[in-house]
Amino acid sequence: MKVAKFGGSSLASGEQLKKVFEIVVSDPERKVIVVSAPGKRNSDDIKVTDLLIAAAERQLHGDDGGLLIEDVVSRYASIAEELDISGEVIAEIRDNLYSLLHADQSKPKRYLDALKASGEDNNAKLVSAYFRSRGVEAQYMDPMKAGLIVTDEGGYTQVLPESYERLYALREEPGIVVFPGFFGYTMDGDVLTFSRSGSDITGSILANGVKADLYENFTDVDAVYAVNPHVVSNPKGIRELTYREMRELSYAGFSVFHDEALIPAFRAGIPVHIQNTNNPSAQGTRIVSTRDNMNGPVVGIASDKGFCSIYINKYLMNREVGFGRKLLHILEDYGVSYEHAPSGIDDVTIILRQDQMSEEAEAKIVSRIKQELHADQVIVEHNLALIMVVGEGMRHNVGTTARASKALADAKVNIEMINQGSSEVSMMFGVKGHSEETAIQALYHEFF
Ligand code: ASP
Repeated sequence: MKVAKFGGSSLASGEQLKKVFEIVVSDPERKVIVVSAPGKRNSDDIKVTDLLIAAAERQLHGDDGGLLIEDVVSRYASIAEELDISGEVIAEIRDNLYSLLHADQSKPKRYLDALKASGEDNNAKLVSAYFRSRGVEAQYMDPMKAGLIVTDEGGYTQVLPESYERLYALREEPGIVVFPGFFGYTMDGDVLTFSRSGSDITGSILANGVKADLYENFTDVDAVYAVNPHVVSNPKGIRELTYREMRELSYAGFSVFHDEALIPAFRAGIPVHIQNTNNPSAQGTRIVSTRDNMNGPVVGIASDKGFCSIYINKYLMNREVGFGRKLLHILEDYGVSYEHAPSGIDDVTIILRQDQMSEEAEAKIVSRIKQELHADQVIVEHNLALIMVVGEGMRHNVGTTARASKALADAKVNIEMINQGSSEVSMMFGVKGHSEETAIQALYHEFF
C-alpha cells in the first residue's frame, strides 16, 4: 500500500487534477491520497492558503473578508468547471467558507487556523468528487473521523502518538481515501494547522499510520537537487539520500520537502519517494534509512538567510556553573529559541533566527546579558546566512572541511563561523548574507 501526497501546484487547475487522476489510477497500490490546497498556477498567482489567511486577518481587524472568500470560491469553481463536475460541491464549499468566515472570533488563532485548514479540507472534497465523476470509488476523509489528533504545545502542532493506531483503520476503507493535508484536531475538537507546507507532514503521519510500503510525495520538480537551481544552473539531481541528510538539507532551505515530515516515516522505516506530477516517469529522489552508494563525501549544499548571532565573551566562563542556563533563560523570557550555540573557553555564540527578535527585545536581551551575567563583551551581528554542507560520506573521507574552507577562501568569502562535529553528517558555515550565493557556487564547484 502506498500513500501519495500531492502539493499545491499539482492541484492548482483542472488540467493538473487530470494528471493527478492518471497517476493515482495507474497504480492500484495508491490507496491513500493526501492533498494540499490549490497552489499557484503561475508565478504571479496567489495560493488559496494565502487568500484564506488574508481573509481571516481582514475579518479579525474588523474589515470584510468576503471579497477574498469569493476569490477562493472562484478558484474551486474554475477547477470544477474545467473538470465538468457538478455545481453541488461548489455550493457546499461556498457555504462552508462563509460559515467559517462568520464563526466565533474570541480565540483568534483558532479562528485563523480553521479558515486556513479549509483550503485543503475543501480541496479533498473536490478531488474526491472528481474521482467519482470519473467512475472511480473515492471518498473524502474527515481527519476528525479518522482520528488525526494533535497537540498544541510549545507553539507548534504535533501529532499525538495514539493517532497512529486509529489511522491504521483507513486500510479497511473502501476505494481511494482522499485526505486533506495540513491540519488535525485537538482533543477538544478544534482545528489546528501544522506549519506552512505542512501537508507533507500529514502524508508522513498517514504513511506511518497505515504502515504503508512507500510514501510518495508528488511535487513539481524532477528531483531534489544538490543545490538550489536558482543559484547554480542545472545542478545535479540527487537519486537517493538518507533521512538524516534530508533533514539537514531541508532545515537549511531545501523547501521541496518539509523538515518536520521526515520523522513519522523514518520511525516506521518507510521510504519516501519525491516525484514530479508533471513528469511522473522521471526518476525522482528516494529518501531511505541507509544508502550504499556514497559517491563522494557531499550529497547536497543548502543555505538559508535571516540569522543573527549574539557573541558573548566573559573571562573564566568555562568555570562558571549555570552560565549557560542563565543565558538561555534570558532568551526564554523573550520567547526566543536558538538554532546553534558554538562555544569556546571564554565565549559562546548563540545563533538564532532574526525574525523572532524585535529591535526592542534585542536591546533588552543584550542589556540583561551585560548586567545579570556580567559579560565582558556582547556583540550582535545581523544578516547572516548559514550554509550546510551535507553528506553521510563525510565521516569516512579525510579533508572535507579543508576542501570546503579552501574553496571559500579562494572565492574570497570570509567565514564568520564554522560548526563541525555536532552533527556527523554535516558541517555548517556562517557567512555574511551578501556572500551567500558566491559561497554556495564555490562549494558546489568544489564538490560536484
Ligand atoms: N497549503 C498549505 C501551505 O500553503 C499547506 C501545504 O500546501 O502543504 O502552506
